[in-house]
Amino acid sequence: MSVFQRLKEGLARTRGRLSNVLSLASTGEEPDWEQLEEALLGADVGVAAMTELVEAVRSQRHHGDVRETLSRAILDLLLETERKALATSTISPRVVLVVGVNGVGKTTTVARLSRRASLAGRKPLMVAADTFRAAATEQLEKWAVRLGVDLVRGRDGEDPASVVHEGLQAAIARGADDVIVDTAGRLHTKQPLMDELVKVKRIAGRVVSGAPHETLLVVDATVGSNGLAQARRFRDVLGVDGLVLTKLEGTAKGGIVVAVARELGLPVRFAGVGEGEDDLVPFAAEDFVRALVGTNGGD
Ligand code: GDP
Repeated sequence: MSVFQRLKEGLARTRGRLSNVLSLASTGEEPDWEQLEEALLGADVGVAAMTELVEAVRSQRHHGDVRETLSRAILDLLLETERKALATSTISPRVVLVVGVNGVGKTTTVARLSRRASLAGRKPLMVAADTFRAAATEQLEKWAVRLGVDLVRGRDGEDPASVVHEGLQAAIARGADDVIVDTAGRLHTKQPLMDELVKVKRIAGRVVSGAPHETLLVVDATVGSNGLAQARRFRDVLGVDGLVLTKLEGTAKGGIVVAVARELGLPVRFAGVGEGEDDLVPFAAEDFVRALVGTNGGD
């Protein structure tokens, strides 16, 4: 099944609600604005994006199809946040820091990013820097064996920054092209997580110039707008370059993608669409909008 089909299945409920409003509107009548607002809010796009999108449709309503206009408005909003991807070839090793709260799919993302690197003919190395949770390191070890990817791990309770230090030195020594660092994501402990991550970032930059070259924040698409406050905190304290939205195939409310991109002003770089090793794909805004809004004449 293609990624687009999977996305489409996941977003069927959201699309259904929007479709009802949009097909009424396509008969040439004025759309029911309240219903459109409700459908967008129900899809979790958030109040700010909803207001912008409805305004876009309203101002264009005499100039074309409502569904088309809405699709274009969502696409504009998503692409606005897109930034030029870093040139990967000149930086070696290229260091990617993966952050996010526990359970969102961070470790799985690290494994899948390393798999993508391998498939692209690059040599990856994973660093398990969540020394707080033994289970996270064990999980990454399993992935390392399964994918045949190098892993540097720390001892339980070791300073994560020191693990990253060792990991990056190993990467240089072994000639790795990509280093992907898994980090801790605990929220409710006395040890401040953000301080720890800031330190990890600083130490990374001492070993490899410019590292981390990309900090990716993993957000679980099924948690809805609750995840936003946490995401904002990571962005503000740590600096984040892009988002990985996991479990996108399981969300009934795909609008969270729009809400997150709009609220955080961050590009969605990858989408998780299943639990398998190949279920992490570069985010394609066009495919997503088609899956969310549908097309005229299709579903
Ligand atoms: P972490 O605590 O943030 O490191 O999260 P994990 O990587 O351990 O993932 C938590 C759970 O989410 C695991 O059962 C993963 O298989 C699952 N998961 C991760 N990404 C996806 C995804 O894109 N879709 C689905 N359905 N499950 C995912």
